[in-house]
Amino acid sequence: MELPKKLDQKAIEKKWQEYWEKHKTYAFDPNDIKRKLFSIDTPPPTVSGKMHMGHAFGNSQQDFIARYKRMSGFNVLQPFGTDDNGLPTKLLVEREKKVKASHMGRKKFVKLVLDTLEKELRPKYISDWKKLGISCDFDVVYTTINDHCRKISQKSFIDLYKAGREYRAEAPAMYCPKCCTAISQVECEDAEINSHFNDVVFKVDNKDLIIATTRPELLPACVAVFVHPDDKKNKKLVGKKATVPLFNFEVPILKDERVDPEKGTGIVMCCTFGDTIDTEWQRAFKLPIKEVIGRDGKMTSLAKGYEGLSIEDARKKIINDLKKENLLKSQKEIKHAVNVHERCGTPIEFIHSKQWFIKYLDMKKDMIKWGNELNWFPKHMKNRYENWVKGLQWDWLISRQLPFGIPFPVWYCEACEEIIIAKEKDLPVDPTLDNPPVTKCPKCGCNKFIPEEDIINTWATSSLTPTIVKELFKGKPVYSKLVKNPMDFRPQGHDIITFWLFNTVVKSQLHYNMNPWKDCFINGWMLDPKGKKMSKSKSNIIEPQDMVDKYSADALRFMAGGSKLGEDFSFPEKELVAGQKTTIKLFNSAKFVFMHLEDYDGKKPVKLEVMDQWLLIGLNKLIKECTDGFERYEFSQARLATEKFFWHTFCDSYLEIVKDRLYNPNRRGKASRLSAQYTLHMALDVILKLFAPIIPHITEEIYSWNHKESIHISEWPKPIKFKENKEIVQIGDIFIEAMTKVRAEKTKEGKSLKERIRKLSCDKKLEKTKDDLKAVTSSDNIIFGKTFKVEF
Ligand SMILES: [Zn+2]
Ligand SMILES: [Zn+2]
Repeated sequence: MELPKKLDQKAIEKKWQEYWEKHKTYAFDPNDIKRKLFSIDTPPPTVSGKMHMGHAFGNSQQDFIARYKRMSGFNVLQPFGTDDNGLPTKLLVEREKKVKASHMGRKKFVKLVLDTLEKELRPKYISDWKKLGISCDFDVVYTTINDHCRKISQKSFIDLYKAGREYRAEAPAMYCPKCCTAISQVECEDAEINSHFNDVVFKVDNKDLIIATTRPELLPACVAVFVHPDDKKNKKLVGKKATVPLFNFEVPILKDERVDPEKGTGIVMCCTFGDTIDTEWQRAFKLPIKEVIGRDGKMTSLAKGYEGLSIEDARKKIINDLKKENLLKSQKEIKHAVNVHERCGTPIEFIHSKQWFIKYLDMKKDMIKWGNELNWFPKHMKNRYENWVKGLQWDWLISRQLPFGIPFPVWYCEACEEIIIAKEKDLPVDPTLDNPPVTKCPKCGCNKFIPEEDIINTWATSSLTPTIVKELFKGKPVYSKLVKNPMDFRPQGHDIITFWLFNTVVKSQLHYNMNPWKDCFINGWMLDPKGKKMSKSKSNIIEPQDMVDKYSADALRFMAGGSKLGEDFSFPEKELVAGQKTTIKLFNSAKFVFMHLEDYDGKKPVKLEVMDQWLLIGLNKLIKECTDGFERYEFSQARLATEKFFWHTFCDSYLEIVKDRLYNPNRRGKASRLSAQYTLHMALDVILKLFAPIIPHITEEIYSWNHKESIHISEWPKPIKFKENKEIVQIGDIFIEAMTKVRAEKTKEGKSLKERIRKLSCDKKLEKTKDDLKAVTSSDNIIFGKTFKVEF
């Protein structure tokens, strides 16, 4: 065949991407139950328009493993899903279509989302993955808002409800007053904010009682005042009543260990619901519930003259009024940590409402055990899981007050609040549109029902991805194998161990009594070149699409293959340059090899030359090292070893050594040429295959020059069988050392590398390689057995 003259990477990448798609090279075969299965629980990205660098980085690393396993003979299931039932998708579709979900109604809006995803957003979005050469089976797709996933999510809710794991409770729930929705512990983060400690004057027996507070706007919700039981100065107050400033009502003075006597005046006010301790006191002391902040984030009628104000405005106005009345002793600026909603940065509030929870806290011991049963790559990531479990304080709040998402399959009896659950056969349901499965309340006989309007939190669905994927194959031969076993592999970022990984483990254990997967593979973050997190606000985002355009998909993947698993990585543009150089070098050296293989018939020579044996031994060592690296998911070990072998051993040394044999068979003999041809053919095939998972396009291109089948479904190389001789390794190494020394000597003398050498003295062991050594060093005469010396 005629080889391409020039390397046109763009054209090559496009050609092979189209080829793979047309030939379904990466298709998972659900009818094949003979081959070993390797199933991957791929992270479903949120459709956001385009792939970002974090996806490109993490998905490339996941793809290295998928490709390695495929070549190792596994029937690889690498699906592609998108997570589309949450806030970001709602906002995206509202923006694109210029609509409001709350005005449209849930059913119409969900249909619009599905249509927009199907026809516009997803095909464009998926193309970014295809352009990076990700080997997902793009025919195995799911979106977390479609019927398939809604059904699974609602069934999970029903099963856990029936198992007594879910409950609806009046509970202080964390609430974001800006997003107007309940949120759970995982959606909060600590933030330091500037605030004031205000010394506010309460009255006890007409005497001043100073209480320091950062939140004077909660005064109308004050239900008690607390002192520490050991607080000598203040404990005499216990049992008395304190009058709340401005609002002039009395509250009891109580004692409790949770008071920090060192903070402020050592006296604190308890307001429903100021913070976590407030909610604990409310429960422990059965204090009344006073809601002074409404769901709209505004002050309620309880705030009297401050009703309708925002939290901030109410705080300012109350401080002013306290000053006017001489009820503010002093004010000092402080910085303090508060819990904020991670999406919008608003300090969270607590509200009292009826919410759905999954009972968690009784399972902490089991949760630790489940974590121990997973294989963590890298190992230390398990700590993050364990720390999270140890720090859990709340059951999992799964209801959200949003107009878009998966509805709870639940109605309530209007008269007695009996909970009516949908029948499994009717799923998916929307209780705001569908009728309950009963016409009369089984408890009181009432025939009126109120639908649950809340939706199920998105993590409660995405924590079911293993089930979502397995259920796509219902009725196929592979199905029973899939459902009986954990999936093999979960790749994901370390930032969502507490969200996605943890919740998936819990759900899988609750539903199936087994872990969702065997191995979890935790990749690090791609940071900007200075080591900072990439973000829109810092305008330091590097788009993967731009990098693919500037270099190539292979170059970008090559870069991703250079980081150790789990480590954050500052974007190294020089690694893309190195990737680019490597693909070009592969192309050029392969062309050289092919030029000399035209008359090669694939036969093994009777006798292999010493330096050929030396290369094959090195190649076998490389195969073992790469296989070992990939088996431990340490792809960077494989990439580095292959890179080193290819550049130094193969190109710099071996190709130079055999040139004379290839070009001059008449002088050197046909047998020595055949030995070189055999070795070149072997070595190039192996190098291409070892590189194939990392740089799939260029390797496929070169491999296609003498193979019909795709390299990506070819067999992963096994060590080449021949009698390895330890002495050969020694001779070869001395040879390379001598060759390197000669080159250095020539450079030192300012001579070209082709400069003839009159006499070369070297180790006696090199006698067997005399002709190769003479040729590669351009020596006229070699003396063996003397110390190394070059004489021009
Ligand atoms: Zn918010
Ligand atoms: Zn009833």
